[in-house]
Amino acid sequence: MIKTEKVLHLKSSRGRKVRVVREHYLRELVPCYSSLCQAECANEGKVLSADVTHYVVPDAGVTRDFMEILEFREIQGLVFTQTACQAVQHSRGRRQYNRLRSLLKDPRHDCVLFANEFQEYSYCPREKGEPQDKWQTRCVYQAAVWYHDHLAGLKPVVMITEDQGAVAEYSSLNCGVYVLSTLEYLRTFWPELQAAHELYGSIAQALRERGNEGTEREFAEHLPAEVLEAGIKSGRYTQGTLNVNKHRAQHEAFVRFDGSSNKNSELDSDVLVWGGKNRNRAVHGDMVAVELLPKGEWRGRTTALTEGQGEEKGEESQGQPMPTGRVVGILQRNWRDYVVTFPPREETQSQGRNSLRILATPWDQRIPKIRISTHQADTLQDHRVIVRLDSWDSTSLYPNGHSVRVLGRAGELETEVQTILIENCIHIAPFSEAQLREMPASSPERPWTVDPAEVVTRRDLRDTHLVFSIDPRGCEDVDDTLSVRSLPPGPQGPRLELGVHIADVTHFVKEGTLTDLEARARATTYYLADRRYDMLPAVLSADVCSLLGGVDRYAMSVMWDLDAQTLQVNRVWYGRTLIRSSYQLYYEQAQALLNGEEAEVPELAQLPPEERDHKLSHLIEALETLTQVARHLRAQRDQGGALELEGVEVRAQLDEDKNITALVPRQPLEVHETVAECMIYANHWVARKIQERFPQQALLRHHPPPRQEFFTQLQDSARALGFTIDTRSNKALADSLDQAVDPQDPLVNRLLRVMATQAMSNALYFSTGACPVDQYYHYGLALDRYTHFTSPIRRYADVIVHRLLTAAIAVEEGARPAKASASNKELEEMAQHINNKNRAAQHAQKVSMELFQCLYFRDKDPETAECCDAVIYAIRTNGVLVFIPQYGLKGALYLRNREGQVVRVSQDGRCVWEAGSLQRSLDHVSTTTASGTSTFRLFQHVTVRVSVQTSRCHADTLHLELVSNRAHRAPEPPDRTPRAAPPQGTRGRSQLVQEVVRQAEEALLQAEEKKGRVSELSKEEREFRQSKTPNLYSLLEEVREQALLDLTACGAVGGGPDLGTAARPCATSA
Ligand SMILES: [Zn+2]
Repeated sequence: MIKTEKVLHLKSSRGRKVRVVREHYLRELVPCYSSLCQAECANEGKVLSADVTHYVVPDAGVTRDFMEILEFREIQGLVFTQTACQAVQHSRGRRQYNRLRSLLKDPRHDCVLFANEFQEYSYCPREKGEPQDKWQTRCVYQAAVWYHDHLAGLKPVVMITEDQGAVAEYSSLNCGVYVLSTLEYLRTFWPELQAAHELYGSIAQALRERGNEGTEREFAEHLPAEVLEAGIKSGRYTQGTLNVNKHRAQHEAFVRFDGSSNKNSELDSDVLVWGGKNRNRAVHGDMVAVELLPKGEWRGRTTALTEGQGEEKGEESQGQPMPTGRVVGILQRNWRDYVVTFPPREETQSQGRNSLRILATPWDQRIPKIRISTHQADTLQDHRVIVRLDSWDSTSLYPNGHSVRVLGRAGELETEVQTILIENCIHIAPFSEAQLREMPASSPERPWTVDPAEVVTRRDLRDTHLVFSIDPRGCEDVDDTLSVRSLPPGPQGPRLELGVHIADVTHFVKEGTLTDLEARARATTYYLADRRYDMLPAVLSADVCSLLGGVDRYAMSVMWDLDAQTLQVNRVWYGRTLIRSSYQLYYEQAQALLNGEEAEVPELAQLPPEERDHKLSHLIEALETLTQVARHLRAQRDQGGALELEGVEVRAQLDEDKNITALVPRQPLEVHETVAECMIYANHWVARKIQERFPQQALLRHHPPPRQEFFTQLQDSARALGFTIDTRSNKALADSLDQAVDPQDPLVNRLLRVMATQAMSNALYFSTGACPVDQYYHYGLALDRYTHFTSPIRRYADVIVHRLLTAAIAVEEGARPAKASASNKELEEMAQHINNKNRAAQHAQKVSMELFQCLYFRDKDPETAECCDAVIYAIRTNGVLVFIPQYGLKGALYLRNREGQVVRVSQDGRCVWEAGSLQRSLDHVSTTTASGTSTFRLFQHVTVRVSVQTSRCHADTLHLELVSNRAHRAPEPPDRTPRAAPPQGTRGRSQLVQEVVRQAEEALLQAEEKKGRVSELSKEEREFRQSKTPNLYSLLEEVREQALLDLTACGAVGGGPDLGTAARPCATSA
């Protein structure tokens, strides 16, 4: 080892130059991380594949400015030098550096770090007077040469640089080491990689423009990092996350801070940041430091409600003055990829200098317009494009960015769906070849079969247990099955055995494999209204792991030995099993069997009548026992205070061309509850097991009690009807909700439950070591321990829990677990990651439902569009909030418009706009005009018309218009085959809905059969190698567990649900 000195010239955050001398040790052996190594380097972990045509070494400038291109997975065999990495760290800051580090860590990318400055033969000291960038380029070239020689010339090495001087100087020095510019490199080696070429053009353009900024200052300079840090410590500044109010994005933003960072004891609320100057270039989501303004300059949040998307004009009504501040510095940028729309031609204006600078409008209304330099402004008008922000200087009114990828024409379905994914940071690449190579082989001709060596290690239930599954019709990924049987009586009397058998995903997905890492990154299967993106490759999710009927499958089981009368647990058994499911039932079929109705069971169709009857009665008996057990378990939880909450689910019924034919509310059946109850029971017992065994590092799921102030809406609305809702505990809440029933109108109870659901916080995963035991409680389920175990095919949390359970069993059997389990800290980080991904998945799902709702209503002629019934559930200053049961929609109805006119109801119930005033009280709102007074009460039924408000740059929204203040009577269906008119009233409606659901499902099934079983793969299937049938089972299951809550509806941003949002569907899943 050789000791030498290295001189560094660093810039402090105040801009001072600092000279640092460091001891520097050189060694001969520095790992090359190539599988072609000829020198026995200690290459541990990720190594470069030998399977590429060349290795590529980007210099410091390319690594710094064009990292996004190097992130393309197609570009393989990448060697990052230590020199380049340090240059990124020093010139681009932590964000970019972290990005590079995660690229290096990601096993799906074929790239490594070579510590060239520690390698004796590749290190070159900086010469006197040599400019830093020249020296860095020389270092990287030296490293490229070393790499080539070290691998004995087995692989050509390409260095890429933007320094034309370096290209000229070095390109002919060494045989086998090529020096190219980035553009030349892309043209030579990746001519087909169009996206990379486009991205290169757009980044290069943005870099060229950066020098041409104006000099006039638009904003105050941000304070240096150490000043901010000291200011936060002393309490002068407060740090928090900037939240922009979506409905007043230009003016109103709030800084929410976490309690620990707040030294200013006077502050117990958000800080209002009013106007662009005070926001000082902070972007929604950034971590900022704010300074409070003098009290005389405080203002209140705007309380006037805006209709549509326009910014408020004219005078504004304000609430109580609240702490108001200005942003003095940015602690952390949290920029992501944004989808923008390019402006129409007439809005673009050339600013000379060969390029066109345009202001693109982000889809997310909270993000400011972004300035982009492009030659494509013309061709891309009305397109949606992904852009990234580069900088926002104090001399610029708008941030600068560059385009990354074109998504397509605005308004087209694929463009809009991709937009939703990008906006929720959901990036789903197709499963790679390498990942798919890890998968077990299975094909229709040669299906996968169990391994005899594995079979002997498992408890074999194939001949002893009647196992079956109950799922939505057509479900492919069956991850849970059930069994129930009587056991020989014990000393206490008759006994029952209940079994829950879950797909043994972790048998196939070993920790740390590519498939595991991909599943972990996705964290969940993503369900959109018209498609889904699976967490696991289809061969696992729809075949080898899926507990299909009639085939042998590995399972992870929990079996309870119960007292048949009291259902007291005598014993619980956990372990790996081998099962063969006898029946793959669907909900409606199972319910029909339970109801004693005729129902076809295809599994029995071929049997002689006697055997069939025998087997059928055996199955029905099992279903009945299961129902009894589930009722009992449910009653136990009810006593503890479990909540029955209401989520309205509406499914978009699509035809082959993805046109919506109907929006269908789902009908709950008791068998849904039965299955859900058994799953909840299994999750609870697994939670107890892993928490007991790993008290500091088990993954559980808790549901914190709601904040009391969120119940105000519910309590106020209930009071208007004479009901009292007691929210002091979940038990009190559940009991008082049960009491709040209007015999005239079942919707009242449903709506109150919807409101209760909206007041809840989210259920969240956590590591047991990161949370005090008294906070493990699951409020909604009324359980002291809970986790997710029953859906490992579509949730990564369950995969972790399966591994924990396996480890717990192994420890009890005296075996040492094969691998040390994750530490509390690692597990807690994982929990946060999964929580974030779940939130994104739920949000994307909700927005995609809204997209389809808009598509549905867009196709209807607004004049002839059928009216529908709506119920008023909240009163606002200039209107009311209504719920439309038919579509599961909620939305705002304005009773006063921008011209100051109010709605008046005429004699026949029709509504007209007239000049007048509006008075609001707790349970009603009245409008007064020259012709009289009209009143709208809570829970009153009215008739509304739904139309679509289109938007060029943002999502379309639904608009509700009051047609009449009377309940809507559904007209006779005009052109349907005549049938007996359904009786009026809600019972009639629900029957009608059931009928529609059944017809729609049958139509869908017939259509599928017509197409034939083995149809051509669709585009999505080819692209993502996964099926696209929407499977809404998860929604259903999770509704029971009600965790999802739309934070914006709970007033997390800008306070209180308000009328600024157009109609949105109700909360759907957990
Ligand atoms: Zn080597």
